[in-house]
Amino acid sequence: MDRRKFVGAAALAGAAGALGACGQKPAAGQQADCASGAAADPIEWKMVTAWPRDFPGLGTGANRLAEYIGRLSGGRLTVKVYGGNELVPPFEVFDAVSRGTAEMGHSTSYYWKGKAPAAQLFCSSPFGLTAQEMNGWLYYGGGLELYREAYAPFGILPLPAGNSGTQMGGWFNKEIRSLDDIKGLKMRIPGLGGEVLRRAGGTPVTTPGAEIFTALQTGTIDATEWVGPYNDLALGLFRAGRYYYSPGWQETGSTIEALVNQEAFEALPEDLQSVVEIAAQAVNTDMLAEFTFHNAQALRTLQEEHGVELRSFPDEVMAQLERITWEYLDEQAQDDALFARVLTSYRDYYAAVTPYSRIAEQRLMNVRGNG
Ligand code: CA
Repeated sequence: MDRRKFVGAAALAGAAGALGACGQKPAAGQQADCASGAAADPIEWKMVTAWPRDFPGLGTGANRLAEYIGRLSGGRLTVKVYGGNELVPPFEVFDAVSRGTAEMGHSTSYYWKGKAPAAQLFCSSPFGLTAQEMNGWLYYGGGLELYREAYAPFGILPLPAGNSGTQMGGWFNKEIRSLDDIKGLKMRIPGLGGEVLRRAGGTPVTTPGAEIFTALQTGTIDATEWVGPYNDLALGLFRAGRYYYSPGWQETGSTIEALVNQEAFEALPEDLQSVVEIAAQAVNTDMLAEFTFHNAQALRTLQEEHGVELRSFPDEVMAQLERITWEYLDEQAQDDALFARVLTSYRDYYAAVTPYSRIAEQRLMNVRGNG
């Protein structure tokens, strides 16, 4: 990204500097004075991630989060980023941040359903909210408060720090014409979407990004979803899967999260706490922009250079999977009180925003490009 375009960050860096470059808010009537030798040593944090290092969108988003924190803090807080398996394996990011092995993590909440089932809803629900609807819920609709409540027992502060946008349905080596074609299908599809697939007769597996290509190519799995054209092109999935399906019913606007060790966060001066929070919010917006831009280019490359065949799931199959989704979510709510509260909040917002999105975004999309 062109740094000069990031006016918001520059303005914030100025504001952070004005608070006092020594990390302490100057008392009323006093100037912050760092020349007196009171300047604290720079704080160094580690960020473990669930992605391959520098992976487009996700890994680059983690890098940018670290970069923003360094820039906004004027170098008083620096964050070193570790790719998946460099310090801990991708699926141990949550525990590493909880223990304080790393002060930060960058991952996605549906990996942590074994810790707190409700965590999954903070990423995405099948047939659920789009990226911008999700942000409406998290920042203004009570979602973030519930997210923090869910992670508090683990000593982790979660911050939305990215969004993939609406994903693709994935790569299949046979066409999906009816629900019968889902039966017996072994598919890499994590989270709630995976459970819906299971109820439709398929076998969901959770495979880390780095292992997906080989699993699909060798037939260990029959199908996989990953993210969207930008990431799927980078993984080379078009060489292992024949048909590229949409829509991404399983992940409709997935929030990517920053995990912050609560103790480490509270040990920061107030202005650096704000730096971490605002940097995460900046990356939340920026990642969606990166995905939106590159997905369009990558889709064209997949079609024009690699001859990828696009397919749409039949409406009938989508309707059946959606019915299974709401049934499954209701059942989960019966087993877990927090899941029930989060689902109620999510669903109330979904019910409120859907009529608006239909007459605004959806109506516009339906008429746009016809002239
Ligand atoms: Ca996905």
